[in-house]
Parts: sequence; C-alpha cells; structure tokens
Amino acid sequence: ELEKMESSECTEKNGTMGNDSRILVFVRLRPMAKKEKEAGSRCCVKIVNKRDVYLTEFANENDYLRLKRLRGRHFTFDALFPDSTSQHEVYTTTTAELVEAVLQGRNGSVFCYGATGAGKTYTMLGTVDNPGVMVLAIKDLFTKIRQRSCDGNHVVHLSYLEVYNETVRDLLSPGRPLVLREDKQGIVAAGLTQYRAYSTDEVMALLQRGNQNRTTEPTRVNETSSRSHAILQVMVEYRVKDASMNVINRVGKLSLIDLAGSERALATDQRTLRSLEGANINRSLLALSSCINALVEGKKHIPYRNSKLTQLLKDSLGGACNTVMIANISPSNLSFGETQNTLHWADRAKEIRTKACEANEEVHEVPESGTDQAKLLLELQKEN
Ligand code: ADP
Ligand code: MG
Repeated sequence: ELEKMESSECTEKNGTMGNDSRILVFVRLRPMAKKEKEAGSRCCVKIVNKRDVYLTEFANENDYLRLKRLRGRHFTFDALFPDSTSQHEVYTTTTAELVEAVLQGRNGSVFCYGATGAGKTYTMLGTVDNPGVMVLAIKDLFTKIRQRSCDGNHVVHLSYLEVYNETVRDLLSPGRPLVLREDKQGIVAAGLTQYRAYSTDEVMALLQRGNQNRTTEPTRVNETSSRSHAILQVMVEYRVKDASMNVINRVGKLSLIDLAGSERALATDQRTLRSLEGANINRSLLALSSCINALVEGKKHIPYRNSKLTQLLKDSLGGACNTVMIANISPSNLSFGETQNTLHWADRAKEIRTKACEANEEVHEVPESGTDQAKLLLELQKEN
C-alpha cells in the first residue's frame, strides 16, 4: 500500500503562481432578449476582436479610431465572450485553471458582476440544459479527482450562502441568519452547512434548490432578488505525503459569487458612498467597490469590515488567491448607461494586484519507522 502511495502522482510540486498576480477580467455579452427586441432596441456593443469592445451610441457608428478617442467608449479586457459563446467555453477560459489550483490547496474565486438581467445567474448557475460555471466547475473537479490515482484522499464539501440586506443566510438549510465569526482560517459564518459531495449528479439539483431559497423581493414574488449576493464555496481537502514522508494536509477553497445587480451602485468615492448608503442602496456591493478602489490605489487599510460581503470575501480579494471577474452585459442600447458603468467598473478591477498564491497546508511530522507510517496510512484511508 505504502509503495503504491509513494510512487503515485500524489507527490506534487509545491508551486506558487508568481509574486504579483493580477485579477483577470472577462466580459460576457448575452443575446438580445425578446423584450428588448420588441422594444425596438439595437445592439450597442461591438466586439471587434478577442480583447477590444466598443460602445456605440448610433446605429452606424463604426469608426473605431474615433470611438477610441471618446471617453468611456473603448475597453480592453483579458477576453470577451460574444453572445454565441457556450457555457463550456466560458467555464474553460475563466475557471478551469482555478479548479486545478484548488486541487493543489490554493484558493480561487470567480465573481459575476453586472446589472439585473445582464446574465450573472445564467453564467454562474445556468439552467438544467445549460449548466453554468458553478456546476461545470464541480463536474470538472470530480473528473480531475478521479483521474488522479490517489482518489480516496480528496474530500469535497460545499457551502452555499446568501448576503441580503446585510444578513447572511444558509441557502442549503434556510433558517435563522448566520453570525460571522473570526477564526484562524479567517472570517467564517458560524453554523453554515458543509455538504459533503460525492458526485456531480446531486449537485445541480442541490444548487437549483439553494437558488430558490434566495430572498425574493416582496413586490416581485417570482423573481429572486436583484439585491441578493449568492456565494458558493467549494472546499477541497487533500492529504498527500512529501519526500520525507510527512503527511501534508492541503485545503483549497473555490468561491463562486453571483453578485447583486450593480445598477444602483455607481459610487466611486467614500463620500458618495456614505450618502448612498443612507438611501438604502446595497451596502455590500458599495463596500466591494470601495475595497477594490483601495486595493487599486495600493492603500494599507482595505475597508473589508464595512459589509458582510467584503468580510466573507476578504481572503478572496486581497489575499493569496487567484481572482477572476466576469462582467455581464446586455447588448441593448436601452441599457447603454448600465453597460458603460459595468465596463468601467470591470476596467478598474483589472488594476488590482493580489499577493503571491501559495498552497494552504499543514505538515504533520510522522515517525521514521515504516510500520508506523503504514499504520498512519491505513488510518487516513479509513477516515476517507
Ligand atoms: P441576472 O442574474 O444578471 O439578473 P439572468 O442570468 O437571470 O440575469 O439573465 C436574464 C435572462 O437572460 C434569463 O432569462 C437568462 O436565461 C437569459 N440569459 C442570460 N444570459 C444568457 C446567455 N448567455 N444565453 C442565453 N440566455 C441568457
Ligand atoms: Mg440573478
């Protein structure tokens, strides 16, 4: 048994991702909706190549050299997804690498940002026929675990939670609001369900049910609230032995975040921020923006404590984490202003630098004797 473990691919390099990693920012354009067509709208978003996008005000505006000189009309991102892009392509380009990193004990997070109706939930959760990033990531995770010979050493847990009106709720087991608490791993929601997942099949149904538990706005009974943030956390625990036969316990966490609608959160400085808070605007989304601004400006103090969302995402933004932003936009000129704001926000997010990304691991020294090691191995296998 021991030999099998030693010779397997379990022993991995303790890799880091470089000292200064940037947030990757992608933009996904959704197809024109029936309602938008009926309202006589035209497409105001021109994707001219893999990285450049222009916003046009008039139907035949396609002098890109001129548009480039206009403020807020030309943006460049890491990749653009035209409306024909499949869910799978979005997953592969944005998240597949993070899943690989999480398997090696690092953290990663993917945010969807954009106005209500821009396609955030479609991108993250998707539908039964066209599952989104959350489901594809878990599917890929299980495939990758199965491909590794030391399969039994991975344990996957899922948590799904919501932040609505500065209240944190468990979407897998709705009930009383959860209290945030600081422990040695960072800020955690006390009592949050950690669902042990064994396969992909159960996950889509679980997430769909969880999504139905998202708070609905009283006035729009059939719609999940545009002001609720949903966070799926995928924790992968992995036990491996290094060259000196120490057992290393690695825990990687992937956070997939479907943010609240951005339509009213346009504040870019603290003063506007405070006045808007009084107007009962989404505090968590504003706090996220001000954290991003502080990170971009290289400030020492990042105001994570200002909201529940930013407390929960502290280790996913500034810390040692691979971060990906997907900005969702509608093609319709009726949403020109919102689209411009979303692209502006996404443009800003490109400037965030995060710290080196290292594996979270605990090393347990084990006794020299071969029999003890064998015993330990047996114990580990029993636990799994
Ligand atoms: P949001 O979560 O940002 O409010 P949704 O994801 O609910 O927006 O999208 C609004 C509508 O547009 C939904 O009916 C959704 O199915 C549809 N939609 C969004 N993006 C796409 C896409 N890429 N392809 C097809 N339909 C989409
Ligand atoms: Mg949504």
